[in-house]
Amino acid sequence: MHVVGGYTRISDTGQIGDGRDGREGVIRQRDDVHHLAQAKRVDIHRIYEDNDTSAYKRHVNREDFEAMILDLRNGVISGILAYNIDRIARQPRDLERLIDIYEQSRRPMIFGTTMGDYDLTTGDGRFQARIYVTIANKFSADAARRVARQKLAEAAEGKPHTGQRAFGWKDLQRVDEREAELLRKARQDVVNGKTIASIHQEWRELGVRSPQTRAGKSIGYSSVKYVLRNPRLCGYRSYIPQEVRERSGRVDPVEYLIERTDGTPIVGKWETIFTPTEWRELVDVLDARKNTGKGRKAGSTVTKRLLTGIARCAKCGNGMQSAMYTRGTVTYEKHGYFYLCAKAHGGCGKLARSGPPVEDLVEKALLDNLKKQTCSVQPAEEQDPELARTTRLLAQIEADKSEARQLRADDLLSLAEFAREISRLEIKEQEVRETVSALSTASARAGSAAVRIVREWGNYTVDMKRQEITRSIEAVVISGAGKGGAQRGAFRPDLIEIVWKQP
Ligand SMILES: [Zn+2]
Repeated sequence: MHVVGGYTRISDTGQIGDGRDGREGVIRQRDDVHHLAQAKRVDIHRIYEDNDTSAYKRHVNREDFEAMILDLRNGVISGILAYNIDRIARQPRDLERLIDIYEQSRRPMIFGTTMGDYDLTTGDGRFQARIYVTIANKFSADAARRVARQKLAEAAEGKPHTGQRAFGWKDLQRVDEREAELLRKARQDVVNGKTIASIHQEWRELGVRSPQTRAGKSIGYSSVKYVLRNPRLCGYRSYIPQEVRERSGRVDPVEYLIERTDGTPIVGKWETIFTPTEWRELVDVLDARKNTGKGRKAGSTVTKRLLTGIARCAKCGNGMQSAMYTRGTVTYEKHGYFYLCAKAHGGCGKLARSGPPVEDLVEKALLDNLKKQTCSVQPAEEQDPELARTTRLLAQIEADKSEARQLRADDLLSLAEFAREISRLEIKEQEVRETVSALSTASARAGSAAVRIVREWGNYTVDMKRQEITRSIEAVVISGAGKGGAQRGAFRPDLIEIVWKQP
C-alpha cells in the first residue's frame, strides 16, 4: 500500500478566509488529512506538524517540514497530503524543493490536498502548484503587512518603542541626565559649526557608549549621527519597520517620522531632551551640510537676517545686507533694522528698505504658495489624467480578479484557466502599481512637507526659515521708489518682486 506523510501547519500571522486558527485549526487540518487518506486508500506514515510558525518569514525554521523532505527523499514516504497547498509550501522555494524530489523520484508519488491533487511530474501540474503558492505567498505578505500596520498603529498612539533603551534615556521613559547633557552640548556645537566627526572623536575620548555599542568597541560614527537625528529627542515618534532595519542596518530615523494624515507629528509619552524647534534646527543644519558638502563657517559673527543675501537691489543686482536704525529714532522704534545695498559688499549703496514689512510680505507669499501645494495634493487625480487613468485601471483589475474568483467558485473556470487568468491579472496589476506610485509619490511628498512647514513656521528659527525660503524663492528684488517717491513710512509692496524658482 502507498505510504504518505500528512502535513499540518498553523501560521502566526492568522489565516485567510478559512478561519483555521490555533490548536483547533491543526486538529481540523489533521482530520481533513485522514479523510483524504481514506478516500485515496493510502496509509499515513505520520503527521508532520509545524505549529505557530510562518512559512512566509524566511528565517523561521520548520522542523517537521524538513523532516518530511528528508523522508520523501529517502523513500520513507511516497507523497504528501495536506488540507491545502499553502499549508505545505507558502514560499516558492519550498515548492521548488519538493518539485525537485518529485521530478527525480522513480516511484509513483502523490501530492494531494482537499482542494485537488497536483501532478508535480507534469508541466501543467507544476504550473498550477506554482501559481497557487505564488498567490498564497502574496496573501501571506499581506498578512505580514497587517502585523506591521498594527505595530505602526501602536506607534501612532505614541507608545514608546519596546526593547532596547535609546541613547539619552535610562529606560523607555526617563531621561539619562549624563547622556542628555552630552546631546545638548553636541547639538549646540553642531549648530555652531562643529562636524559630527569632531563630536564622534570627543565622545570616543570620553568613552561614551550607545546601547548598541558592542563590548570592547567604541561608539561608531553612524551611531553618533543616528542618536543626534533621533526624533525621539523632542518627543516625536518614528517607526522603522523590522524589515527595513534588517535590510539596511543603520537608517535615518528622520525619514521614518510618523505623521498623522494632516501632517502633524505623533508625540510620544516619554521625557524629552530637545524642544521640537531645537531638534529641527539640528537636523536642518546637518541636512544643509549634506547638500553643500561643507559645514557652516565657524565663528562667523555677521548677523544673518531672514532676507540677507536673498533680497537683491534692483539697481545693481547685489545681495542686500542688514543694519540697525539709529537708536531713539522713530524708524528704530517701528522697524528696528533695514536692508541696504552695501558698498562694503560690492553694491551701489543707493538702496535701503525697512526690514520687517518686506519680511512679512515674503513670508506670507511663501506660506500661501506652500498652502497651495498642500491643497493640490488631494485632487492630484483630477489634475493628472494619467494618474486618474491608472487608478481606474487598478480598480478594473481588482474587479476582474474577484470575477475570476467567483467564476472559479461557481466552477465555470477550470483550475488551469483560473490560475492563468489570476497570474495574468497579477502581472498587470504589478505594472500598473509601479506606474501609480511613481506618479503619486513625488507630489504627495512635496505636499506633506508643505503641511509641516506651514504648521510649524511660527517655531522656525531664522536659519530654518531661510532654508525654506531659498528652496522656493530665487530672489526678492527690491526697487527704489524713484524720484519724489520718499515713502514717509508707507510700505509699497509694488516695489518688491519675488522671483520664484522654477519647479
Ligand atoms: Zn545696489
